[in-house]
Amino acid sequence: MKKAVVIGAGISGLLSGLVLVKEGYSVTVLEAMDKVGGMCRSYNVNGYSVDTGPHIITRLQNGPLRKLMDKYFDVTPDFIPHGEYYIRSKGKICPFPWTLGAFAFFEHIPKKDRIMLLQNLLSLYSQRIFSPDFDNISVWDIVKNKSYSDRTLRFIDTLCKFLTGNGMEKTPVSRFMDSQDYKNKNEKKSQDPIDYLNSLKNIITKKGAEDQCYPIGGLQSIIESILKSMPKNNIVIKCDCPAEKINTNDKGVTGVVTKDGTIPADIIIYSSYSSELPNLVDNLPEVYKNDLQKLEKVMSLTLWLGLDKTYFDKIGSEIWMDSTPPAWVVPVSNYDSSLAPEGHQLVGFATNLPEKYNDDDEKSRLMAAIEKELPGIKDHITMEHYQIVVPEKAAWVVHQKMPSCKTPIKGLYLVGTDTTHKSMGITRASYSVLNLLEAIKK
Ligand SMILES: Cc1cc2nc3c(=O)[nH]c(=O)nc-3n(C[C@H](O)[C@H](O)[C@H](O)COP(=O)(O)OP(=O)(O)OC[C@H]3O[C@@H](n4cnc5c(N)ncnc54)[C@H](O)[C@@H]3O)c2cc1C
Repeated sequence: MKKAVVIGAGISGLLSGLVLVKEGYSVTVLEAMDKVGGMCRSYNVNGYSVDTGPHIITRLQNGPLRKLMDKYFDVTPDFIPHGEYYIRSKGKICPFPWTLGAFAFFEHIPKKDRIMLLQNLLSLYSQRIFSPDFDNISVWDIVKNKSYSDRTLRFIDTLCKFLTGNGMEKTPVSRFMDSQDYKNKNEKKSQDPIDYLNSLKNIITKKGAEDQCYPIGGLQSIIESILKSMPKNNIVIKCDCPAEKINTNDKGVTGVVTKDGTIPADIIIYSSYSSELPNLVDNLPEVYKNDLQKLEKVMSLTLWLGLDKTYFDKIGSEIWMDSTPPAWVVPVSNYDSSLAPEGHQLVGFATNLPEKYNDDDEKSRLMAAIEKELPGIKDHITMEHYQIVVPEKAAWVVHQKMPSCKTPIKGLYLVGTDTTHKSMGITRASYSVLNLLEAIKK
């Protein structure tokens, strides 16, 4: 049996371990922390089960996680549809305008801007046929000379932050074009006219994010399903056991050094920060190392509130466009009431953090924004829990080259949210594991 060592037991590492053991490898998964799951876990705070940030899992109809679940999971999590995305602005709530028709009547931005934006959007869609370099054209490049009102620019900026963790100056236009049916850019240089017509049909008729869901039982249920799907033999997970060094010789990788000794390996899958890979491997080419070290991560702040009053009665989440900071608000106990004590609601408020920040100032800012939006909420808080975490190891931003699954060293592969440009979060992590499968099969 070929030996594989997986470094990191977040969702990317655990999915890689499961796939490899089922493909016939003998697998050791190493995790630095005392528990598995990384950024994809749930834990108890005063009787509430909080996730590591509010999560909605995307592309569940036939996207990458579905493909992996169909082929490799013996036990699958139960998912409940996310419902609508709502925009909250000036105290009003309305569904996110997914279609061109709905957008034409979207009252939160001025009518003149709506018409201009529609023209902009249609023109960009048609340009896709000629495959311009949308990865390196920012949203700001497109809107800056168009005399949009501040309100419209704020709306666009909030959407960019929601999709990439960065504002419109850094968000590439391609992030808005990324979809399940848009073929891998490396395989296909220009877009098929049929794809173009399909994507146009989508923006005219699509009802919304129909294949997005929340996992019943919280994020932990995804991790538990992966663990339960692992066979009894040929896979070991070692917690509290960080990889200290990756050994190589002129033929490729040979093993991983840990505090308990060296584990021999034919292949090594690295799922931690690619930017930190040079600390573990000695002989990476300089150009490759430089590219890795340029990767920018995203930081986010989440405030979980337990409430003894129902402030959110809808199934779905809210994008707070006017608050400072803007926030994404997910009442997770509306999907699964067992996450909160009886009669209580559990709500996650997530926002991005600026490059430089002070923890306490950002926490106060977020809490103040919530109190301003929902006056009186303070009297109904029964649990308050903050998390400062990294949703993505590299943001999808302009002029950033993400490394691919294959590295310059034979037998050393990368997975995780900093190894592919598609989608985000767990969906992106799953795409990276499909890339791994393809690479090892080649
Ligand atoms: C606020 C927030 C909201 C989010 N919303 C969504 C969402 O709506 N939808 C979605 O799909 N995703 C979302 N995400 C993102 C998603 O949770 C992450 O992208 C995903 O969990 C990352 O998984 P990963 O395995 O690539 O990385 P990680 O989870 O970071 O896993 C890496 C693991 O490697 C371990 N490690 C590091 N160094 C070593 C070493 N030397 N040796 C051994 N182990 C090591 C770490 O301890 C960690 O466990 C969100 C995240 C946050 C924080």
